[in-house]
Amino acid sequence: MHINIKRLQSRISEMGKIGALKGGGVTRLSLSNEDKAARDLLKKWMIQAGLEVKIDQIGNMFGLRKGKNDLPGIMTGSHLDTVGEGGLYDGSLGVLAGLELIETLNDKGIETERSVILANFTNEEGVRFTPDMVGSCVFSGQYKLKEAYQAISMDGSKTSLESELHRIGYKGELHCGDLQVAAFIELHIEQGPVLEMEKLDIGVVENLQGISWTAFDLKGESNHAGTTPMALRKDAGLVAMKIGAYVKTLVNEIGGNQVGTVGKIEFGPNLINVVPGSAKITVDLRNTDNARLTLAEEKLLRFAEKTAAAEGVEILMERLVRFNPVIFDDGICQWIEQAAQQIGLSQKRMYSGAGHDAQMLAKVCPTAMIFVPSEKGISHNPKEFTPIDKIETGANVLLTTVLALVQK
Ligand SMILES: [Zn+2]
Repeated sequence: MHINIKRLQSRISEMGKIGALKGGGVTRLSLSNEDKAARDLLKKWMIQAGLEVKIDQIGNMFGLRKGKNDLPGIMTGSHLDTVGEGGLYDGSLGVLAGLELIETLNDKGIETERSVILANFTNEEGVRFTPDMVGSCVFSGQYKLKEAYQAISMDGSKTSLESELHRIGYKGELHCGDLQVAAFIELHIEQGPVLEMEKLDIGVVENLQGISWTAFDLKGESNHAGTTPMALRKDAGLVAMKIGAYVKTLVNEIGGNQVGTVGKIEFGPNLINVVPGSAKITVDLRNTDNARLTLAEEKLLRFAEKTAAAEGVEILMERLVRFNPVIFDDGICQWIEQAAQQIGLSQKRMYSGAGHDAQMLAKVCPTAMIFVPSEKGISHNPKEFTPIDKIETGANVLLTTVLALVQK
C-alpha cells in the first residue's frame, strides 16, 4: 500500500502558504494568527477525512480515526508552529504525512483494530513561549498545565499562553493526557546532514540528545570607555564574551557527541563608548549521555562564576530548559526498520540532535521517530528542503509502520 504523494505534496505547499514569506519559507509562531489559520486548515482537513476532532486544554489537536476495538490508539503527528523565518517541512511534514496515511486507509476502505490518532502539538518550537514542546510536555504529565498557561509571550505583547489559546479559539475541553495511546511514531526531517551525506533514505531514530538551556544575567557597572582605568572596570560584557568563548573549549573537553551554542547575547546599554553595565548570555548544551551533559553544565557554571568574580561582576544563573536524553523504544525501531526494508530502502539507526514532541511521548508509551534527509542539513531556515521522493518514501514507511501496529 502506498500513500498519494500528489495529495501530500499539495497539502504541504498549501500549508506553506500560511505565514509565507516573500523569499520563501514561513513564519508561523505558536498561537499567532498564522498558527490559528494553520490549525483551522488542519481541522477542516481532519473533518473532511472523517476524523473526530478533539482539542485539549493546552491546545493540542487530535484527529481520531476510530478502530474496531476500544484499545489504546496508535498516535502519529508533530507540530504546525514554526520558528521565525522557518521552512515548509519542520513539523508540517509529520502532521500532514499522518493525515495522508489516514486518507490512504480511507481510500482503501481499511478498518483497523486500534484507532489511529493524528496529533498537532502546541508550541513545539518554543520561540514565542517557553518552554518548547510544551503541548507534548503537558500531555505526557511532565509539566503542569497551570505553569504552561502562565508563560508570557516573548514578542513584547505581554500576553500569556492561556490568553492566546483562548483568543485563537484553541483552549479545548479535553483533559491533557486523557487519550489512551499504545504507541507514538513521529516522521520528521532530519534537520542535519547525515542522511544526505551517507546517501540514505531513512533514519531510524533510537535516541535523542538531552538539552540544557542556561541564561546568565550579569551586572557590572556602566562607565566611560575612555576615562575608566581597565583595572577599575566592572565589565559585564567582557564576562559574557568570555563565557561565550569558553563554550567551544568546554565542548572539546567533554568530547563524544557534546555540542554547545551561544545563540543570544545582549549588552546594556549596548553603546560603542560605554563599558557594558549589564549583559545577558544564553548557552545551549546537548548530549545523548546524561552524565556528560551534567558534567558540562557544572563546568560551565564554575567557569562563569570564577570569571564573573575575577571581573567584579555579579552573576545570576537561570536554567531555562533541562531535558534528559531520551532512549526510544527498540520494538518500535524494529517495526520501522522492517517497514523500510519491506519497501527496499536504505536506512540506519541514528540519534536526534534536535528536540521533538516524540521525546515527551516516550514517557507515556513506546515511541520512536523516522527521519528523512534534509538537503545540505539546513533547517530553521526558508531554504529547508527535502526532495519529494524522500518525502514519499518517508510517508510510506510511516504508513507501513502504523498499519502494522494498528492491527495488533
Ligand atoms: Zn520540528
